[in-house]
Amino acid sequence: MKNSSDIAMIDAIELPSAGTKQRVQLRFSHSMLAEWSWPATVIRGAHEGPRIAIISGVHPTEYPAIEANIRIARNIDPDLLHGTIVSAPLIDVPAFLSRTPFVCPIDQKNPNRFFPGDPKGTFTEVMNDAIFQAIIGPSDALIDLHGGDLVEALAPFTMYSVSGNEQIDAASEAMGRAMGLGYLIANTPKPGGLGGTTVQAASAAGIPAILPEAGSCGLLSEPETALLVDGVENVLRHLGLLSEPVKAMPPATMITEFTWLFAPSEGLWYPSVEVGDTVRRDQSIGRIASIFGDDIASVTAPHDGDVLFLTTSPAMRESGVLLAVGGR
Ligand SMILES: [Zn+2]
Repeated sequence: MKNSSDIAMIDAIELPSAGTKQRVQLRFSHSMLAEWSWPATVIRGAHEGPRIAIISGVHPTEYPAIEANIRIARNIDPDLLHGTIVSAPLIDVPAFLSRTPFVCPIDQKNPNRFFPGDPKGTFTEVMNDAIFQAIIGPSDALIDLHGGDLVEALAPFTMYSVSGNEQIDAASEAMGRAMGLGYLIANTPKPGGLGGTTVQAASAAGIPAILPEAGSCGLLSEPETALLVDGVENVLRHLGLLSEPVKAMPPATMITEFTWLFAPSEGLWYPSVEVGDTVRRDQSIGRIASIFGDDIASVTAPHDGDVLFLTTSPAMRESGVLLAVGGR
């Protein structure tokens, strides 16, 4: 993933001179990270403005997200840019060539559960800490691009994490609206729920942040890639980095209850709904059967809402993720 023209940087991003674009291989002095490097494009606008981090590949089999980030980094003209963009297309670098879904293959941890990281932890936590210090922490806003993983179908949505700081949360929400995807999820972290995400760590540190997702099942699909590129460019207009007027986007369906369902036992998973379907509380939404085809468990909707993503692979371990329902 390297070019000879890439510049090596250690532990921090040095900004190039105004009006230039620099390709970087970011390395870290932490001994656990010594064998690895992280590609980034640093675009410093000719005009003053905020610094934005655009990252992807926290889950590196979510290809429309990575492709969108690559295109944005190539498309942006530094002469027209107000501010700085740090585009890092691959965060979980060790998982990319091995095509490992969800987790880092070195310690089997999902990076998006361990932000802002820990320099004393295992590889994923050390990597997250290094990335947070170098790329996310010094930014005025974060866009973390995702899409359905190898075994996930997904209805495009943007999530932000409710931090309790009204000013930060309003800024994240406004970025989410500018992104223009069909659903906007205001996720309030709670014990046992979704935690340690990039957007939770960023917003807790006072950095407005969104996590847009588009794509499904590890496919590099053009409509979802274009959706992410268009959305991010609009967020850049909204934040003042691009001077064209903000495009009016279709209003998103607001989701305040984001509930993940987990398998009550291992077996084969047969969902009876599709992403985007509207479900009612207690409605049957699928079943788990044994390898002989006997029903083991039926799965019902926890509350009214829309199916935002679901696992498309029948192979299901106990407590594996089945799907998520977003309540309005
Ligand atoms: Zn993801």
